[in-house]
Amino acid sequence: MKQSKDFLRRVVEEDLNAGRYQEVVTRFPPEPNGFPHIGHAKSISINFGIAKAYGGHCNLRMDDTNPTTEDTQYVEALKDAVEWLGFAWEGEVRHTSDYFDRLYDYAVELIKKGKAYVDSLDEETMRAYRGTVTEVGRRSEYAKRTVEENLELFERMKEGEFKEGEHILRAKIDMTSSNMKMRDPLLYRIRHAHHFRAGEKWAVYPMYDFAHCLSDYIEGVTHSICTLEFENNRDIYDWVLDTLELTPPRPYQHEFARLNINYTVMSKRKLLELVENGIVSGWDDPRLPTIAGYKRRGYTPESILNFCESIGIAKANSMVDVAQLEFAIRDDLNTKVPRVMCVMDPLKVTLTNYNGSETIEASYYPHDVPKEGTRELPFSKEIYIDRADFDENPSKGYFRLTPSQPVRLKYAYIITCKEVIKDANGKVIEIKAEYHADSKSGSDTSGIKVKSAIQWVEANHAKTIEVRLYDRLFKTEVPEGIDDINPNSLKIITNALIEPAVISDKPDERFQFEREGYFYADPIEYRDATPIFTKIVGLKESSAKKKKSPKQEPKAQPKKVQIEGEVVPMTAKEQALFESYTKELGLNSEVANTLARDAKLSAFYTEALDALPSPVGIANIVSNEVARELKSKEISELKFSPKDIAELIKMVEDETISTKIAKQVFEEMVKSGANPTQIVQSKGLQQISDPALILPLIEEVMAKNPDNVEQYRAGNQKLFGFFVGQVLKATKGKGNPKVVNELVKQALV
Ligand code: ATP
Ligand code: MG
Repeated sequence: MKQSKDFLRRVVEEDLNAGRYQEVVTRFPPEPNGFPHIGHAKSISINFGIAKAYGGHCNLRMDDTNPTTEDTQYVEALKDAVEWLGFAWEGEVRHTSDYFDRLYDYAVELIKKGKAYVDSLDEETMRAYRGTVTEVGRRSEYAKRTVEENLELFERMKEGEFKEGEHILRAKIDMTSSNMKMRDPLLYRIRHAHHFRAGEKWAVYPMYDFAHCLSDYIEGVTHSICTLEFENNRDIYDWVLDTLELTPPRPYQHEFARLNINYTVMSKRKLLELVENGIVSGWDDPRLPTIAGYKRRGYTPESILNFCESIGIAKANSMVDVAQLEFAIRDDLNTKVPRVMCVMDPLKVTLTNYNGSETIEASYYPHDVPKEGTRELPFSKEIYIDRADFDENPSKGYFRLTPSQPVRLKYAYIITCKEVIKDANGKVIEIKAEYHADSKSGSDTSGIKVKSAIQWVEANHAKTIEVRLYDRLFKTEVPEGIDDINPNSLKIITNALIEPAVISDKPDERFQFEREGYFYADPIEYRDATPIFTKIVGLKESSAKKKKSPKQEPKAQPKKVQIEGEVVPMTAKEQALFESYTKELGLNSEVANTLARDAKLSAFYTEALDALPSPVGIANIVSNEVARELKSKEISELKFSPKDIAELIKMVEDETISTKIAKQVFEEMVKSGANPTQIVQSKGLQQISDPALILPLIEEVMAKNPDNVEQYRAGNQKLFGFFVGQVLKATKGKGNPKVVNELVKQALV
């Protein structure tokens, strides 16, 4: 993906152009005191991303100067996060503790230069001496110690002769500086603790401000990128490196804004609290904003990186809407993962007039035929649909099965409800229905109009799965603490039914369960008896997120979709339309959003839909092509009518013309106002499905590309798309993609 130039990249380019450095070296320097979170992902994507973009390298450095909080399990989690995001650090993992000897020597050097001293004030006095933002500080009497005294004391501190807090090594800078951090900052403190790598060797440990700049220097880092809260530390960073008069080149620090996301907490300390109090199941709980949590939830590394890129690199702190992250994963999975059918809340349907059984071949990628991959859907007299897809007393606008309204079983037949069977409590337990033999998807001649297609599974072959539905862990946008936990953040469904191919074929780990959302086969607890699937994200933006936070600044919009909370809220009417478009008609949120928000478009859409009950096909053309025309015109000024659009889409659906040709026909309709069927006939645009016409073209393409044929036959399956593309081109876009696909497949064997 193309990176836009942010201010950090501009700095790096300038430095390279000016010849300041031979090579860009960055580092990612976490403190191994907790699992990395999405904020770290941001830092990883910046540091590793910049190094990669400019042909340099990035180090992974554990900033392990605080022996009491660090642990190797965190080191492993940090390494795992970097690798999972697709980056590689240079050489071995580094540790600040690798440099403890050298850092100690640098401290001695500073003492020798008269630039550091051992202070022995008690904590309280030291704090009082520091002054305030409005009051200058006052230097400790101990600052008058001679170089020899300081050297001796510091040595004895190192040897463990003193208690913690008895002495401390400080830089001698300026107790009157307006930057409080420069008022003789602490460089080394006494700690009698076991270090997870250095063991008992040290009784003194360097402070961040001393260790960080020097570790960067030792590693040859050129750009030390950190978050804004270190802005005031930059002066110390520069002071230490300059005062030691190190051989150039030296690194410089650059700050960017920390990533914050609403509805969650981010700091490792707060996350640790949730883990330790058992509020979540562990660091990899799918509700946590940890990398391990996202991984377990089913997020892809690509989605996290795309998210990090979409929010940009800022110089001012702000809150990012979690919807933007949810958008990123949805956007990534939308085109990638197979679509299958799962029934969350099964309701039995018996088709009284159906006997025997059959299998129906259905594409895993119905949105992207000719993408390869199909599965067999068993079909018989007994099926299950979702309880929510039947309503005995529907309100207006309910488009699914009712006692008087037929519905299509996706990929299969239209069914009509004949009888509703209830238990003693009046709960519907079964539906007796009839199927329409001539209504099969793809060869429907029934003429029956339905308003939606619903998912279903065949009763004898369906597999029971457990589904874990996760919601946000906190119910408030900026959680204060444990009181703000959302008590309903996990709902477990133990008896969902899924079509058998998902389990036996295992076509992927991630799926779109049609009309439900994206799901992930849990990598840890997945069992053979009852497989477990985790909901990654829904198909549309969560409707819980309606209010716009006043603090929120408009940010880089993600591509395509408008995110709730950053746009004018919908009116109640628009919202109702949006809901029915997405829930009843199965439109994606982007298309539904476009239609629902525009009265002209939704009116046009409704009228076209009346002429042809093909909600998705019509919605696509209305929200794109028709919308473009209506930008500058009223409906009455258009040369084509909703009926004409329905007629055009009908031709696409019965494969008279391809989608591509449909666009061409549409342009003609816009100009001349001619009827689409007439356009197709007079221009000879009918789709070519006849093998006798297509086969010679395939032969021609193969003859022209003998190398590719050979490679394909040797196993390079990726070339399949090339052949299909060439043949379609040779038909001038008129070839029937399905037929071409099939014929190319046969020809290439
Ligand atoms: P936390 O407060 O969550 O413990 P931290 O800043 O102490 O985070 P470190 O492990 O010390 O985390 O940081 C490693 C790197 O990741 C640092 O360069 C830090 O600036 C960066 N980083 C940490 N949190 C964020 C964030 N929310 N956004 C961007 N970068 C972050
Ligand atoms: Mg920290």
